[in-house]
Amino acid sequence: PDLPAGALELEINDLTFGYNPDEPVLQGISLQLAEGRVLGVLGRTGSGKTTLARLLLRLYEPQQGEILLGGVPLRQTRLSDLRQHIGMVTQDVQLFHATVRDNLTYFNRAIADKRIIKVLSQIGLVNWYKNLPEGLDTILGSDGEGLSAGEAQLLAFTRVFLSDPGLIIMDEASSRLDPATEQLIERAVDTLLSNRTGIIIAHRLGTIQRADDILIIENGRILEYGPRARL
Ligand code: ATP
Repeated sequence: PDLPAGALELEINDLTFGYNPDEPVLQGISLQLAEGRVLGVLGRTGSGKTTLARLLLRLYEPQQGEILLGGVPLRQTRLSDLRQHIGMVTQDVQLFHATVRDNLTYFNRAIADKRIIKVLSQIGLVNWYKNLPEGLDTILGSDGEGLSAGEAQLLAFTRVFLSDPGLIIMDEASSRLDPATEQLIERAVDTLLSNRTGIIIAHRLGTIQRADDILIIENGRILEYGPRARL
């Protein structure tokens, strides 16, 4: 079945997964995230946070348990449909040697320039955009050449915003950005999350305060889980 439009509810039931089935990386993970809520995921390096994100994108199949998105078991979704409904922002932004427009729309010509420019300004990139020598036709280097780390992150947010997914997964950058960029990013995160369900692999205190629920993973198991106010 097709996934419903709008913010998506997420349910994970007793999920167990290991890259090597004999060595589980995640064990007995269960959680429920209502439409529009934001989950902050915390845990040490290697605790399994990124693995959880990969399972949601169906890059791997769990050995045990089930994930439901919008009430639909992940196994029963079409991959193309699933990837349209989940927006992922990771620390390393993949850019192509292509125009700004194509980088932001993944070559989807149905997205009008006006909409792109509007989102760029909502995200806080209007001055960056105004300085582009050829506007949306400006070619970007594939390695993000000429972009600051903050700008690259904001471009990734713009890209996800334009694809309008019902669930956002964000793997927050752990590196420090300058305070002005930091503030832009904080605002962009708010813009991105409004009316969407969100999972943030959190490295910043500000983000944790934005989360409705908190999940703390330790060695692949749930250490703490619940509404932020109660933890
Ligand atoms: P970090 O905060 O450093 O990103 P994390 O909590 O996201 O860590 P994961 O990347 O999910 O942790 O890794 C969990 C465990 O799975 C680690 O022991 C890691 O070595 C292992 N692992 C991750 N990716 C793979 C892979 N592709 N193949 C085999 N093992 C992997």
